[in-house]
Amino acid sequence: MTSERLAALVCAHVVDGSAPLRMVVHDAPIDPSDSGWQFLCGEGETEPPSVWMLSEVIEQFPDVRVLLDQPVGRSFVREREGAEWIAYEGEP
Ligand SMILES: [Zn+2]
Repeated sequence: MTSERLAALVCAHVVDGSAPLRMVVHDAPIDPSDSGWQFLCGEGETEPPSVWMLSEVIEQFPDVRVLLDQPVGRSFVREREGAEWIAYEGEP
């Protein structure tokens, strides 16, 4: 399981609440402080994401916890908040 003290990217819409968290991507970490996880609205990003600690993401969005032992290269999409995550190999 990824350390919850590592950094994760959260899209500007999810941060400001203007769009729900609907896409989670597990990329390869870019450095030792990075988890490689991205938490996105999935509707196209035009602004730079925020950097959160993974533990902060889990606190705000507890239903991502079930994903966090999934390997690099996988991504997850759901239709709406509370819906089941659908897994993809690579980008959906
Ligand atoms: Zn977004």
